[in-house]
Amino acid sequence: IVSLWNIRCCLFQGDRMSAEQQVVECARKAFHSGRSRPLEYRLQQLKRLQCFIRERQTDITTALKQDLNKSEQASLLYEVLSLEGEISLAVDRLAEWAAPRPVEKSLLTLSDQVFIQPQPLGVVLIIGAWNYPWVLILQPLIGAIAAGNAVILKPSEVSCHSAKVMQELLPLYLDQEMYPVVMGGVPETQELLKQRFDHILYTGSSTVGKLVMEAAARHLTPVTLELGGKSPCYIHKDCDITVACRRITWGKFTNCGQTCIAPDYILCEPSVRDRVVEGIRKSLQEFYTDDPKSFPDYGRIINMCHFKRVLGLMEGCNVALGGDSDESQLYIAPTVLIDVPPHARVMQEEIFGPLLPIVTVAGVDEAIHFINKREKPLALYVFSSSNRLIKRIITETSSGGVLANDCIMHFTITALPFGGVGNSGMGCYHGKHTFDQLSHLRACMVRGLAQEALNSMRYPPAHAGETAL
Ligand code: NAD
Repeated sequence: IVSLWNIRCCLFQGDRMSAEQQVVECARKAFHSGRSRPLEYRLQQLKRLQCFIRERQTDITTALKQDLNKSEQASLLYEVLSLEGEISLAVDRLAEWAAPRPVEKSLLTLSDQVFIQPQPLGVVLIIGAWNYPWVLILQPLIGAIAAGNAVILKPSEVSCHSAKVMQELLPLYLDQEMYPVVMGGVPETQELLKQRFDHILYTGSSTVGKLVMEAAARHLTPVTLELGGKSPCYIHKDCDITVACRRITWGKFTNCGQTCIAPDYILCEPSVRDRVVEGIRKSLQEFYTDDPKSFPDYGRIINMCHFKRVLGLMEGCNVALGGDSDESQLYIAPTVLIDVPPHARVMQEEIFGPLLPIVTVAGVDEAIHFINKREKPLALYVFSSSNRLIKRIITETSSGGVLANDCIMHFTITALPFGGVGNSGMGCYHGKHTFDQLSHLRACMVRGLAQEALNSMRYPPAHAGETAL
């Protein structure tokens, strides 16, 4: 109530605006007050966000249990800890990130100050997806606060418990005019997208990403689009298949396959296919026992709509492992599909669930060709003991990120830019990359008024310079 009252109080035109317009106006007014410019304010807000994460950990993990059946351990590992690390980094490095960055000078500018000055953009909109509802909203928020922006947060309505906790509790910690949380589904997001922002960072599907970009274009607003796609995983016959399968099983079935950079499908030669199936079977047993349904660390599909979509992808496929489901619990077993033809439906759209198709290829040449014929993925995984083969895959393919001999782990390195390419997105974030993405890197040059003779060669008439020199 206090939050809404404050927002109302800072408006000029109150009732004639939509709720979304009011929130954006209020955030813009807060931004123009200039209070987010000093680094002390940004540090203070980052530390409050840190307090929120520490003090409200139980609220966060409870909401994640309700939304996705995430175990407390998984919530701490994949959402809370990564946020803590990101905030500590921003607090430690803010002064360095925000400082003027001197650049190389030319002979003619040797005595000038030439530097890049990061400056806040203004009002940033962050729209999140439901699969990691905290990380996908708060991780970009950290960089946006560090960069000195006002930020409108729009959590996914699909992970409704997390969204509710965020809306209720975050304003108790942060400057609520500068960082408001907007609730709602598609109509509210569409209304928000009609407003003018200085940057939009969207996480979600490529289909909606196009709508976001279209709306942003009306105001010439730059966008960062963190989208999805089918991330391939090539297993070469020379690698340790047991280790490869353990790492792939972890990457694929964590969060019930609902991870944007989960390996979507496996490519391997027919000669290793059965060993791959056996390796995954053993790893599944190791991780989730013979009864994943009763095992607390195995997640659930987010809702009935996605449950039916994922089951539909399995239709007509040859199931090597798993395949069972329970609608009453939105449970789908970890499932491996074999003999999958490239034109099968499960190979056409992003799976985003616990189905792992194996497509056989003749070798690395065909694997590269297979990958390059499709949309550029968000992540690409290769398992091989040959550095030459790994380098070849890195050189001859394209994807947002590439990781050899493991899955997901590149996400945890904040020094690496995280983002897609082509259909999997544009722009990037994490660590300093978020700060830079949500700053205007302003070109600055400061000259003195002396040494005018040096400038005369560029003033007309042309021969006057020669005389002066
Ligand atoms: P979602 O349904 O939660 O949608 C994401 C956001 O878009 C929500 O806030 C929602 O309100 C909004 N939205 C949905 N439809 C809209 C419309 N028509 N107009 C305006 N706004 C709309 O999430 P999703 O799209 O199901 O998320 C899954 C996708 O996100 C997958 O493709 C996954 O790979 C991708 N993803 C990418 C990343 C990444 O970092 N690149 C991370 C997580 C998920």
